[in-house]
Amino acid sequence: MVVILRPGTTEKEIEKLENSVEKYGVTVSKVVGTERTILGLIGDTTKVDPYVIEANRNVERVMHVAEPFKKANRMFHPDPTIVKVGNITIGGGQIAVIAGPCSVESSEQILNIAREVKKSGAHLLRGGAFKPRTSPYAFQGMKYEGLALLKQAREETGLPIVTEIMCTNDIDLFQREVDIIQVGARNMQNFDLLRRLGEVNKPVILKRGMSATIEEWLMAAEYILSGGNQNVILCERGIRTFETYTRNVADLGAVPVIKKLSHLPVIVDPSHATGKWWMVPDMTKAAIAVGADGVLIEVHNDPVNALSDGQQSIKPCVFNKLMQDIRQIAKAVGREV
Ligand code: PEP
Ligand code: MN
Repeated sequence: MVVILRPGTTEKEIEKLENSVEKYGVTVSKVVGTERTILGLIGDTTKVDPYVIEANRNVERVMHVAEPFKKANRMFHPDPTIVKVGNITIGGGQIAVIAGPCSVESSEQILNIAREVKKSGAHLLRGGAFKPRTSPYAFQGMKYEGLALLKQAREETGLPIVTEIMCTNDIDLFQREVDIIQVGARNMQNFDLLRRLGEVNKPVILKRGMSATIEEWLMAAEYILSGGNQNVILCERGIRTFETYTRNVADLGAVPVIKKLSHLPVIVDPSHATGKWWMVPDMTKAAIAVGADGVLIEVHNDPVNALSDGQQSIKPCVFNKLMQDIRQIAKAVGREV
């Protein structure tokens, strides 16, 4: 249930109303918007009589929230959430470009790619140190050594770093050392991990599970939000369908759906969504045109010899040209890069 207060309601009156509804055993989530304050009632609201609340002179309207996601719901939070990383914003008018290799492979490799993507105008550097691979025999990432190399690349280029977490044991380390923590598609419903990330003071990119519905994805975000961490960025990375030509099917329609249902920023990963490097520029442009708040792109200096996902990684020169196109598309849809 959502209680929309009249403009000008005082703090004291809000507190009184909060106390009166908390007596029914629900928790109140207060969102102070640009114009109005909204109280979201979470829990079993069956005992709360909307007519009694509406009788309060400070209440403008009471709405029932049918969806199971509450904190992620746009009804609870009409203004878009803007996630800040240093002076970069994700979810406002600015498009955030996150670029880098699938995996960190060596000091030379990550530094080379970091310098290249920085030169072309990327805002953040991605690179997997812990890799969730389908085969246990495939390269599993450089792990802690990879994390140290990412930090070195950040130090040299100034680009904040984005990397995937796989295990709850690493949460403290990631909280200290990483700028945005990525939860991969395979861990979207790792509820232990999500709950722990709810207590973390760092933004989280939550990738859509490869067979997850939009509602399941938003419920996964709800786990993080309900723990207190409001800085969640959703990432569409393609879903499984009957089609086998592409690695996944880029569900770009999910972007406007998320924008309608939720206040959370949503970005698109055209690399995993297609699995083919030559599709990445066109799908990136489409993602921005459809309203994505950013893109996550795999870039590699030597894709043929990459230790993971070379076939979907673009070279720095292709990325450089793509950045120019991104600026034009962004401008056409009223955004900035
Ligand atoms: C990745 O970003 O390299 C990755 C493993 O992505 P996903 O979790 O979307 O498969
Ligand atoms: Mn990858």
